[in-house]
Amino acid sequence: MILGGKKSMEFIKPAAKVRGGVRVPHRKNTSECATVDMPSPKTVKIMMSQHIGAPSVPCVKKGDEVKVGTLIGSPAEGLSSPIYSSVSGTVSEVCDAMLSSGQMSKAIVIESDGLMTEEEFTAPTVETKEQLIEAVKNSGIVGLGGAGFPTYVKLSPKTPVDTLVINGAECEPYITADYREILENSDDILRAVYKIKKLLEIKQVIFVVEDNKPKAIDKLLEVVSDKQDTDNSVRVMKVRSMYPRGAEKMTIYAATGRRVPPGKLPADVGCIVMNITTLGSIGRYLENGKPLVSKRLTVDGSAVANPMNVRVPIGTSAADIFEFTGGFKNPPKKIIFGGPMMGFAVPNDQIPITKSSNALLAFDEKTVGKMSSSDCIRCGRCVSACPMSLMPAAIERAQILGDVDELNSLGVRNCMECGSCAFGCPAKRPLVQVMRLAKQIVNKR
Ligand code: SF4
Ligand code: SF4
Repeated sequence: MILGGKKSMEFIKPAAKVRGGVRVPHRKNTSECATVDMPSPKTVKIMMSQHIGAPSVPCVKKGDEVKVGTLIGSPAEGLSSPIYSSVSGTVSEVCDAMLSSGQMSKAIVIESDGLMTEEEFTAPTVETKEQLIEAVKNSGIVGLGGAGFPTYVKLSPKTPVDTLVINGAECEPYITADYREILENSDDILRAVYKIKKLLEIKQVIFVVEDNKPKAIDKLLEVVSDKQDTDNSVRVMKVRSMYPRGAEKMTIYAATGRRVPPGKLPADVGCIVMNITTLGSIGRYLENGKPLVSKRLTVDGSAVANPMNVRVPIGTSAADIFEFTGGFKNPPKKIIFGGPMMGFAVPNDQIPITKSSNALLAFDEKTVGKMSSSDCIRCGRCVSACPMSLMPAAIERAQILGDVDELNSLGVRNCMECGSCAFGCPAKRPLVQVMRLAKQIVNKR
């Protein structure tokens, strides 16, 4: 195919075959739903803990007037990230509130004036690596695929890196937020990619996308072909759809054939891994200087009347989002923040979305009723499903006994809570919850 006078590039094949994983139903019902912008809700509750590391410190008080983009949470010492108001209005409360994970955090409640008046934003000057890191730090951007790791830290690795792996796999069922980022915002993604590549002297960039997203692969091939360097150093890799292909270590292995040892970081094998929406957000910030104040997420599930992709002000409650999208066709029995594999079931619909929320799912009684568990039949399916080569059934037994030594020898710390073991379990054992509890026991010692 000829594009813009240039020969179109082809996708590349994986460098290595990843073990384990499960074939999950894709249910990408919203893949063709263009993103709809939600207007300001009446109130937002903006959490101070929206990232890995120390929570931000509130720097506004009750009665303060704020605009879209006003700094309301200063980054704490060490690993942290700034937080900005997502609406204009008045701070009504600084309180404690629950995150979707069940943890408590300081939160700032803002009564919106409905005007969405913005601060004055200026595009940052970014000509050096240090300016890039500072800009990304100021943007408030963290890992937007769900991890929430402050992105500026990834851009300052302690060991030399030669490869940027861009994760566009989006392997969880239902979620199409990253897919829409590729289709709708590829220019932003490419702007960030080439800036990072140049300033961090990255030798190769590899986009990793599952083969169930042919339009996204074609779009990336088209835009990369248009901008391609003479050394062909930015490439698009098509990988087989298999959950959890989007997990960081799996993505690195598929893209480069390099294995990240337990307890090590991607930079230890010369890689930076970034989620594709994170890159798009960096690209937008480089263009206009507007910090991260809104998030695209997929709203779907058997109880939802109108599944769609919606961009919402950060801090909007699940209840307001469901109301905006048209409510429920069946009474919701379970609400999940994130995907059905790695997301968190929440106790009520007042929990607000954060920077790394990428889906809001609601399931009815009929769907949830299928989730009840029975005794383990020792079939071993969880072992063959585990991409980290763990033995989930044995870990469950050790967790029930509270045997910390056994949990350590079984390597429970290496569990990434992907849920592949639970998905394949015929007894429907709640193995992800077991892994989380087991890791808490081990970490407490
Ligand atoms: S898959 Fe389920 S039933 Fe089979 S061994 Fe693992 S925990 Fe037990
Ligand atoms: S044990 Fe952990 S890493 Fe392995 S499949 Fe289960 S949740 Fe995933």
